[in-house]
Amino acid sequence: MAIFFITFQVVPTTDNEHYDMIESAISHCWTVGYDPQSAFLKAQFYVSKDNWKIKNVENPPIEVTEEHLLTFCDLLESDTELAHFDFARNIKSLKEEFSKGAIYFFYEFLGREGKIKKPIILTSSSNQSKLSAFIDKQRELAKKENGRCLHFDSGNKCNEIIDAHSIQRRKSLSSIAEYGQIYVVAGAISDLKKNGEKLIYKKAGINKFSTFSGFCKHHDNELFKVIDESPLIPTEQQVFLYAYRSLCRAVFVKENSLELINSQIKHHDNKAVKELLNSNKIATVFGLGNLNRHKSEYDNSLKNKSYSDIKYVLFISKQKPSVVFSGLFWPDFDFLGRQLQNLRDYETKLELITICSAPMNDNNWGFLIAWHKNSSIICNSFMESLATAIYNKCDIGDLLFRLVISNCENLAISPQWWEKLSEDHKEKISSRVTSMAHPDIEIKHNYLMHGLEGISQWQFEEPISSRIGI
Ligand SMILES: [Zn+2]
Repeated sequence: MAIFFITFQVVPTTDNEHYDMIESAISHCWTVGYDPQSAFLKAQFYVSKDNWKIKNVENPPIEVTEEHLLTFCDLLESDTELAHFDFARNIKSLKEEFSKGAIYFFYEFLGREGKIKKPIILTSSSNQSKLSAFIDKQRELAKKENGRCLHFDSGNKCNEIIDAHSIQRRKSLSSIAEYGQIYVVAGAISDLKKNGEKLIYKKAGINKFSTFSGFCKHHDNELFKVIDESPLIPTEQQVFLYAYRSLCRAVFVKENSLELINSQIKHHDNKAVKELLNSNKIATVFGLGNLNRHKSEYDNSLKNKSYSDIKYVLFISKQKPSVVFSGLFWPDFDFLGRQLQNLRDYETKLELITICSAPMNDNNWGFLIAWHKNSSIICNSFMESLATAIYNKCDIGDLLFRLVISNCENLAISPQWWEKLSEDHKEKISSRVTSMAHPDIEIKHNYLMHGLEGISQWQFEEPISSRIGI
């Protein structure tokens, strides 16, 4: 995480409290960012939140390192910039503030005629977004009382909503835990600001991790018995249910996100915040619409017991698992860097792939990649690219580790394994998770081609697959 300096030329909007006095201003901004682009987007957001319109970007984001800080201060030597100069000189002491997501603005105002003649400097200190209401609402939505049963046949029988584990607890989570603890990504995207724009792994108890109140006790037991009580063989029914559970959790989480955004829109009256929330809402509605379409396809197969509608490839490892996971994603780019779907084209019907780990007989574990036959066009291309990468001698452990770290947030890491990793490897994993989750960082077309090499040391047997039909 680096400190960036950015300068904008701005004019007040009619909502700005200084509108009558100020004709224009130069806004110097100090912020932390993952890269210049994310620092810029953050600064741009706060400038417009404070009711300024950007006329020009005078200095695009410059990374301010300790080495060139003094040289940098020399540039700010006029009297009117004295306060700013002092600030810059003492920036090291503000490290902690920055790490909590603080952003600082210095405005040099140019008054309207006859009012302020000399430019002046104002300091705007810590300007963190107000997260508490957001987090409260998030907690409330996650409570069991707000649970619901997502079973296709839900109704009168669904009288006891439970905290269902989306990753099997007894054989999976417990197998990697140490004294009931695992490492998980701390919080969610909302924590990016608190942690200085970086997602980090923290120790947590297994009890609450990856649970969701998306099924009643009756349906959860009835449906998932064959995967919760037996190791993965694999039968088509088991594979189907692993994929289905990932999908149901995603629907549950996305429905909660939408409700959360709607409640935020109601509580904010700032124009810039509203605009941001509305664009989040459009993306969330799009994602949820696609998820619901897939869920109804899975539901139909389930009703008809057409488990062979599921297609899959299973990689088996004889090693002790170091991570366990369950998730899904829309394949956007493949292992050869080709684009498969455009996730920003809201007209597209997105195809979906699921990934999860599963305990198997003889203490083996499986890395399961599965999709409904209705997603075969994109998923076959995706799997072909994986086969090509393996054929081209890419390390299969590296490929699958990169895939899961990049695309699955519902993932727990074994403390014994994590604590032995070098700081460099830990940093690389956290950076990868951050760059995939951060709303301001664009996903690169080759993200599945490179990165995280030599960390997992995973080894796999020849994969087992359903007939893919290619
Ligand atoms: Zn139910």
